[in-house]
Amino acid sequence: MIRVWDFVCHHGHRVERFVEAGIEEVECGCGAMGKRQIAAPRVTLDGCSGDFPTAADAWERRRESHMRLERKNVENHGTYD
Ligand SMILES: [Zn+2]
Repeated sequence: MIRVWDFVCHHGHRVERFVEAGIEEVECGCGAMGKRQIAAPRVTLDGCSGDFPTAADAWERRRESHMRLERKNVENHGTYD
């Protein structure tokens, strides 16, 4: 299953990557390896399917700035839409 996983490197950076469930480590932006975290179930990407990694990348970049808004939407509507 391909989905977004959270990884944390030993510098404490949190990294989100769109990878298969078997991937336990990814390279963090700082060059260290990030270990996969046990993450709470996450709602599917807004409108993106797993067949479009580039869309997922764009989503990942967008997410930082939209996280606050998304949280608000979840509180208000219970979805990421
Ligand atoms: Zn790092």
